[in-house]
Amino acid sequence: MKPIVIKENIQTAMNLLTNNNYEVYLVGGAIRNAFLDLPIHDYDLTTNATPEQMLDVFKDFTTIQTGIKHGTITVVINHENIEITTYRKDTTYTNHRHPDEVHFTTSLEEDCKRRDFTINALTYNPNEGLKDFHNGQQDLQNKIIRAIGDPNIRFEEDALRILRAIRFASRLDFTIAPNTQQAMLNHKNDLKYVSIERIASELKGILESVAVEKAFQTNKEILTFILPILDTYTTQTYLTTIHTLSLATTFEERFALLLQPINDPTTIHTTLKTLKYPNKTIKHIETLHQALHLPLNSYYDLKQFKHQTKDYFDQAYNLRYTQTTHQEQLTTLYNKLQTNNPCTSYKEMALNGKDLIALNYKGKEINTTLQTLLDLIMKEELPNNKEALINYLKKT
Ligand code: ATP
Ligand code: MG
Repeated sequence: MKPIVIKENIQTAMNLLTNNNYEVYLVGGAIRNAFLDLPIHDYDLTTNATPEQMLDVFKDFTTIQTGIKHGTITVVINHENIEITTYRKDTTYTNHRHPDEVHFTTSLEEDCKRRDFTINALTYNPNEGLKDFHNGQQDLQNKIIRAIGDPNIRFEEDALRILRAIRFASRLDFTIAPNTQQAMLNHKNDLKYVSIERIASELKGILESVAVEKAFQTNKEILTFILPILDTYTTQTYLTTIHTLSLATTFEERFALLLQPINDPTTIHTTLKTLKYPNKTIKHIETLHQALHLPLNSYYDLKQFKHQTKDYFDQAYNLRYTQTTHQEQLTTLYNKLQTNNPCTSYKEMALNGKDLIALNYKGKEINTTLQTLLDLIMKEELPNNKEALINYLKKT
């Protein structure tokens, strides 16, 4: 295990609590990652101090109280937000997502019981060392994701845990314990109670993971539940498609690859809109998806594609390259594009809006004329030359 290096501001927060006679432990991702020799990107702290007591301890600091109902306060130290949560004991869950009531407890052991997986319930502080009530270290060693307690109850309480299990397994390339896996499947329909935003964010996390193909292999029913479009794929199409995912690395590329078998742009758009991804992300994925369906034999099509998708053109081209058996054909066209640098945008045209105004064009006419001219230039039916373009306009 990597020694747990605690950042200075986290240490400050821990010292303040300890000096006021409260317990405080690091928990979750930080400890897990230290064991796995992975970089630590966030520190979750857990304490027996109640939110009110924490506000008193941190009275000289800025605090944010948005999570206070659930026992979390955010303290700003050295311009960084530090989240600290009071030991909690969750009560009944009637909506498959949030506990009906949050009860604070003074027992660290109780707090660990309400956590999702054994590998996420390791706690540490420099004075007490490591506490591991659920054999998390053993599961880390054996690379296993295992629910704490009765997995059926835990997934019934909070269905989001189903997707978290898949995300952790695929991110760390771990295996999900058989009874945990079975319980996930038993409760997949409860995912309908989880907000779209949370589903979309877990799906993003899964798509960004190293073991993405395995995640889609092992969890087909669950992932099809959150992405029903996958149900339209034949088994063979599903398997070939998920096999392509690791050819790319980013979320957008992988989502485009996942949707590759779908031809209809409206279906793609609706699928992404339903998951409420930001419009920019949707556009990006759509562009890459469009690239995967781009004809490979037409210089005009490639130019048009460049015109429509300036921002993502090179990425789209590279993705298309990984997915074709006609790489040579595509390279030839692409090289021609790089060498000749043909006009593919209004900016590169020898005639602009101002020129058209000088020629007495007005309003919408200006845009449609520019469009027509650009298209003719790209088709190589007109040269990109001011005089020639003006002559053409005078003749028509
Ligand atoms: P990362 O931040 O790298 O995604 P993490 O383990 O720190 O991983 P967080 O979402 O930051 O995950 O949550 C911190 C800890 O809170 C988890 O390690 C786990 O112990 C607990 N936790 C988070 N979400 C849940 C949940 N839905 N059910 C039970 N425990 C949870
Ligand atoms: Mg975390």
